[in-house]
Amino acid sequence: MKIYLDGKFVDSAEAKVSVFDHGLLYGDGIFEGIRLYKGNVFRLDAHLERLEYSAKAILLKMPWSRQEIANATCEACRQNGLQDGYIRLVVTRGVGDLGLSPWLCPTPSIFIIADKINLYPAEYYTKGMEIVTVPTRRVNSAAFSPAIKSLNYLNNILAKIEARQFGAPEAIMLNDQGYVGECTGDNIFMVHKGKILTPCAQQGALKGITRDTIFDIAQEIGVPIEEHDLTRYDLWNADECFLTGTAAEAVPVVKLDGRQIGAGTPGPIFARVLEAFRRRVLTEGTRI
Ligand code: PMP
Repeated sequence: MKIYLDGKFVDSAEAKVSVFDHGLLYGDGIFEGIRLYKGNVFRLDAHLERLEYSAKAILLKMPWSRQEIANATCEACRQNGLQDGYIRLVVTRGVGDLGLSPWLCPTPSIFIIADKINLYPAEYYTKGMEIVTVPTRRVNSAAFSPAIKSLNYLNNILAKIEARQFGAPEAIMLNDQGYVGECTGDNIFMVHKGKILTPCAQQGALKGITRDTIFDIAQEIGVPIEEHDLTRYDLWNADECFLTGTAAEAVPVVKLDGRQIGAGTPGPIFARVLEAFRRRVLTEGTRI
């Protein structure tokens, strides 16, 4: 496998960063997870815009243009002979000393891994997933904005560990006020009386690229959609529930915290959303 690292393609065995890189020492960096579908990079520009916003939020000045990063992303797919896959684009603060100070890290690093993707099992999409709410809360959005896609995922990882301890593949994280934020690596949606609802970013949700796509799809299929504060009670009494993410795409949830959601099978609005999503991924990409 060839990895793009700071302007060059190198073998994966040679793709190394320093132990003094603050991405490693402090999780000081940002990333994007991007999908390649039949030779098209899905919503590449939106991913690179989010990367730029994350960089600005942490005062990391990226010395590369959006076009340069886009070219490197497409080239990483070509170099590895991929037509379908998952791309991990990482920008670290770069090499510094053992103190926190980002000003002692003059040169950020960028690397891009384009690889095959491990999808959720197919039966999750046909039968639905069973998930739980975990005790670990989402970090307060005033302390650390959930919109920043940073290299520090320990909050989500702790929740993921708890999900697994409860035998669930994914988990709902509440914010410090007890409202639904998102899942450990996915956004969450519910359907109630014909309307799609999802928490807003301030409640602890990443502004997911797939989430944005669901807003466009809802318009296309004529289903009202809005951001709404949600509690566990709302989800338990939803007609339908589904999660979205670059890796997961859109996956239905049929049981939450031991309660059956709706009819206990993937719902009709979810089916329309998934169908529209699978069409869009083939038409909304940047050709590599
Ligand atoms: N929330 C979190 C915490 C995530 O890490 C992700 C991405 N895996 C998402 C939501 C979904 O965002 P996107 O649709 O941009 O992949």
